[in-house]
Amino acid sequence: MTTETRGLVCAHHHLYSSLARGMPAPPSTPRTFVEILEQVWWRLDRALDLDLVAWSARLGALEALESGTTAIVDHHSSPNAIEGSLDVIAAACAEVGVQVRCSYEVTDRNGADGAKAGLAENERFLRAGGDGFVGAHASFTLSDATLDAVCGLADDLGTGVHLHVAESEVDAPSGARLAGRARDSWLLAHCVHLDRALPGTVVHNPRSNLNNAVGYGAPARFTRVALGTDGIGADMLEEFRLAFALARSADVTASPEQAWAWLRGGETLVPSAAADRVVWSYDPAEPWHLAYTPGVRPLRVEVGGEIVLDEHGPTRVDAGELRARAREAARRLFGRMADL
Ligand SMILES: [Zn+2]
Repeated sequence: MTTETRGLVCAHHHLYSSLARGMPAPPSTPRTFVEILEQVWWRLDRALDLDLVAWSARLGALEALESGTTAIVDHHSSPNAIEGSLDVIAAACAEVGVQVRCSYEVTDRNGADGAKAGLAENERFLRAGGDGFVGAHASFTLSDATLDAVCGLADDLGTGVHLHVAESEVDAPSGARLAGRARDSWLLAHCVHLDRALPGTVVHNPRSNLNNAVGYGAPARFTRVALGTDGIGADMLEEFRLAFALARSADVTASPEQAWAWLRGGETLVPSAAADRVVWSYDPAEPWHLAYTPGVRPLRVEVGGEIVLDEHGPTRVDAGELRARAREAARRLFGRMADL
């Protein structure tokens, strides 16, 4: 019996979306996955400046910490504020006391200069000693030349590529495009419609997949799996419960042990999270209990040997003040979105 676990890992996050809740409605109701990207997320990311990226990341890091998530693998996009954005995210997470591995989503959707600037930001950040991956949006927004540049940069820097793979049917051809390019060090987010096994870790994002009506990816068919939120907070116990419920909806013999193994899969992406400690409000913190116990909260969180959350809340930042400043930033963001 124990109330303690290692630090939890959110293996696919978009900290830039933390301010999005309550944002202005799109001009028309999106009816497809691509319309959701075009009308919601690609309007939001174009409106971000570095100050908004910072407040979004601080709020996302705070919410992670308050959920017992000590490490985030982030996938960032801010097409009008690319240079320096990964430093801003790394600094915001360090302020709060959460570990982060960064990447910038390279894409051709904003022209050749946009793709070049994204590649340059990954390279600048990683060569300066930053921790992370080379990011790419998804193969359906990448030309062969840009995809090759992403792969080449990751190989040169000795790291993997973090990208969306076959999240919806529109990106199903990515299996064929990535075969021969993908490596064990890659992070493959979603893989709902992936038609083959690829080297790398598959990151299953159950709530996001439900929210976008893209279908169930049956992650049990893959050997290396981790769990992410795809930007909808960083409550990984909640994501574990959803992953279990969704697996169970497809196969009534599915076990919480399997979803727990997926959650622990995040440790292969951020090994240092295994040294972090979280004390929970429920005893015992074990898969068969946690799968059926909503609302379990961390009482104490230790990252890198430092207590960053105790019974009074986060120790490094004032949570109330941070939330108030983030709300102000959100109002400014929504104003900029309206002007786009
Ligand atoms: Zn994503």
